[in-house]
Amino acid sequence: MVDIVTREKRSKMMANIGGKDTKPEMAIRKGLHALGYRYRLHVKDLPGKPDIVFTKYRAVIQINGCFWHKHNCHLFKWPSTHKSFWKKEIEGKYLRNIENTKCLLENGWRILTIWECALKGKTQLSGESVIRKVEAWFHSTETVAQIEGKTEK
Ligand SMILES: [Zn+2]
Repeated sequence: MVDIVTREKRSKMMANIGGKDTKPEMAIRKGLHALGYRYRLHVKDLPGKPDIVFTKYRAVIQINGCFWHKHNCHLFKWPSTHKSFWKKEIEGKYLRNIENTKCLLENGWRILTIWECALKGKTQLSGESVIRKVEAWFHSTETVAQIEGKTEK
């Protein structure tokens, strides 16, 4: 057995875990739009192609898949097979993310990370509460912030 995952299979896995345009993400976008916030999606000319970009607030929102971004929560667990492959993939993504974050900050952007565990599963927050947190952040002075799922009991 070869310790690789085909490109095709990998892109399927990516699509399933915290992929683009997932339903909870759409709900958040719609909610913000309804409140009058205007944004661009997956902006290619910014480092890391941020998911949602609010030019007026010089703010970006990143929706992070907990698995791909090694989040300290119930959605992340090192896979038990193909360990070296996953380690390389996930650490690589983690390091790229740090680079992108640095670059955005240097260019005066603010970054809000919304973790997948805040949007789905047993730790999810209500859409309304996520939207309220996003709004509060827009009007705050916090440069970097994150919204995570509820703490497990
Ligand atoms: Zn998480």
